[in-house]
Amino acid sequence: MYMNSNFLMALLSTPTVSGFEDAGCKIYESYLNGYVDECKRDILGNSYAVLDAPEEFPMVMVEAHIDEIGFQVLYIADDGRIYVRKNGGIDMQCIPGSRVVIYGNSGEVHGVIGKTPVHLQNGQEREKTPELSNLWIDTGLEAEEVKGKVNVGDVVALKQDAEMMGKYRVTSKALDDKIGVYVVAEVMKRLGNERDSLRCKVQGVATVQEEVGCRGALASGYTIMPDVSISIDVDFATDVPGCSKMKYGDIRLGQGVVVACCLDSDMRIVEQLRGIASEKSIPIQYSARPYATGGTNASRIRTIRKGVRTVLLGIPCRYMHTPVEVCDMRDVEAAISLITEYVKSI
Ligand SMILES: [Zn+2]
Repeated sequence: MYMNSNFLMALLSTPTVSGFEDAGCKIYESYLNGYVDECKRDILGNSYAVLDAPEEFPMVMVEAHIDEIGFQVLYIADDGRIYVRKNGGIDMQCIPGSRVVIYGNSGEVHGVIGKTPVHLQNGQEREKTPELSNLWIDTGLEAEEVKGKVNVGDVVALKQDAEMMGKYRVTSKALDDKIGVYVVAEVMKRLGNERDSLRCKVQGVATVQEEVGCRGALASGYTIMPDVSISIDVDFATDVPGCSKMKYGDIRLGQGVVVACCLDSDMRIVEQLRGIASEKSIPIQYSARPYATGGTNASRIRTIRKGVRTVLLGIPCRYMHTPVEVCDMRDVEAAISLITEYVKSI
């Protein structure tokens, strides 16, 4: 199985807290340099990799969000403790005990989000999900030094610790949705290598600000006005205890790319994908999703202007929105193959 682990690890190790995605977009753009006609940005910072074609050809958008959940500095107490506010729906049960990096004006400041030792907590305290206003970042620095290096509004990301687990599985924070951006980049690279056979224009977009309300998707959808749009995000793997198959369906790591059969997917495209997957022996799984619509970029792009033919594809992911998300690279390869073959079929 082909895998560019250098590019994947570079994406995962570059902080892209929602609203502050520039460094990650640069990695995406430099990876595609030479494979696409140009890369450009819009005002929000969405990054577009463009494969041009004659004007009358249909426009295909392939997108995944490059932003990750994180924080911004809200308040610095007199003794140097730092309080933060969330960008996106981070799992607060996993935050105490985390290492973080603050991106200050004079560089990185490392810190920890500590907690009261479990021995000193009563039963009620142990069971409660902590509130952010009761947690702080301890940098180990003197208060004056903190105030010189950290300002209100500075971006805070969870510390990076991506690694492979065995041959196929990867764990990291922010696999949601950098694993999707990896898919988009590989699709654009493969399409770029076969561009003479394409009968459509293609824009591969690393979208911003998904975790704070799918804002980048809306701006990029309007900018491109695609005839077809393919969104790739992570989807809930239910192959762990406590994830009810009766409520959420049966989605497993390593069993293929997930095709969402919800209102955010055009069922004609789903049928085409079904045909391509069986013809090319690409493993796929189907999900009705926990909700009829919403929760991802596809739902926003779907309702732009007269409506857009969208399809939502998922990479199965365990432990979503924690610092230890887990995905399987075989599902990633299935997604890349399925999208590439679909775009070539247009
Ligand atoms: Zn996501």
